[in-house]
Amino acid sequence: MKVEMVFEGFPGKLATGFMLWSSVVYIETKGTKILFDTAGACKRSDIHIALQKHGVAADDIDILFLSHFHEDHVYNFDYFTNARILLHAKEAEWVESEPDAWPVPKYLYPALVATGRLELIDKDVEIAPGVSTLFTPGHTPGGMSLVLRDENMPTTVVAGDAVKNLAELATGKVAMSWNNDVSAESIAKIREVAEIVIPGHDRILQLTPDKVIAMNSLHETIIIPPGVVDANNERRLELIVEQSWLPRS
Ligand SMILES: [Zn+2]
Repeated sequence: MKVEMVFEGFPGKLATGFMLWSSVVYIETKGTKILFDTAGACKRSDIHIALQKHGVAADDIDILFLSHFHEDHVYNFDYFTNARILLHAKEAEWVESEPDAWPVPKYLYPALVATGRLELIDKDVEIAPGVSTLFTPGHTPGGMSLVLRDENMPTTVVAGDAVKNLAELATGKVAMSWNNDVSAESIAKIREVAEIVIPGHDRILQLTPDKVIAMNSLHETIIIPPGVVDANNERRLELIVEQSWLPRS
């Protein structure tokens, strides 16, 4: 099985508002090409380029897995013209009953239905060899994760915002959740099966018996065009989140 980060989620926000940089993961198993989430509007012009780096085009994706219906995770689904699109039935029900307000982009939902390729999932199921859905509500009522099992790698849960970051996985305490208690139950479920967790807005996380370890650092650069600050050169502002860990509680 191949598991690659198309975009890495970022565990921060601006002092003036959200950045909405979420994880997008490419999974390939026995000829089936799966994309976990599609990022937000901020990545719309970059998602094709990012996929190309993994040797895959939007048309090649067989299964588009939408973890939950928040704006920073589903925005670019229309690019994936051949994919079956999977969403949890409870999430669909919630979106249909919600007012049209951020971060639930209800206005996108009719277009998702109009693809004719939306399949609602109401129980956990294997969607490809070694790739199973795991119902992980809490952040939203119908959130789903994917569990990846392969003899050549540790059992990995791609969690979306069921686990947004290191702190949430280590403590079970979450922020910005539809229901904190339900979120804590979902995190416990993930901790039972996962050796590695790919969260919605943070580095890749390793679970050991006593710690949760962020395995890599994150590095993003804000580029100010030439002439704006410096007459001839671009100005680069570096954003770095270092490796770190927390004890499990
Ligand atoms: Zn998110």
